[in-house]
Order: sequence, then structure tokens, then C-alpha cells
Amino acid sequence: MNDDDWIEIKKDERHVKIERKKAKELRKSNWWKKQVSNGICYYCNKKIPHKKITMDHILPIIRGGKSSKSNCVVCCKDCNNKKKYLTPAEIILKDLEKDQNKSS
Ligand SMILES: [Zn+2]
Repeated sequence: MNDDDWIEIKKDERHVKIERKKAKELRKSNWWKKQVSNGICYYCNKKIPHKKITMDHILPIIRGGKSSKSNCVVCCKDCNNKKKYLTPAEIILKDLEKDQNKSS
């Protein structure tokens, strides 16, 4: 057994390719259309204009995330840009850092 295998979150081109394709298919589904018609950003809870709606993977594909309904959310462009490749835990850490900077 290889010591590097303890965690699955690795850059895996094959995984990325497969999950991107799945995301494309998911965008055509009725489930996604329903999410879009709700139009509420998962992160900032704001109503998003129809054209600015993006699909976001809570755990990015590149970090091992899958294109499943539980990992794909409606997201506005602002939040999507802010988030990039961070995992939810990393975003929380970043926010904590920001708060600490404010108080000091
Ligand atoms: Zn947002």
C-alpha cells in the first residue's frame, strides 16, 4: 500500500473529465431547472438574475467533488469568483482570519 493513498482528494484528470461531463448533463435535468427557477444563491442567499446563475460544486471537482445533486448548487457569479477552488472548511477558515484582522 502506498502512503499517499490515504486520501482521495487529488488532482485526477480522469475524474475531472467525467464529473464535468456529468455536470453538463445535470444542467439539462429538470432538477437543475427547478433550482434555477428558485434562483437563490446557495452562499449569499440573494436572488440571482437568470442570466447570472452558475452551477457550483460545493466540493470542487478538482478537489475530488462529484457532480451529484447534493454537491451541486445554484451560485451567483460573485460568490463563484470568490470561492474558486476552496473547500467549505477553507472558506470558514478564511472568514475567521478576516474577523481576526478586523478586531486587531
Ligand atoms: Zn452569491
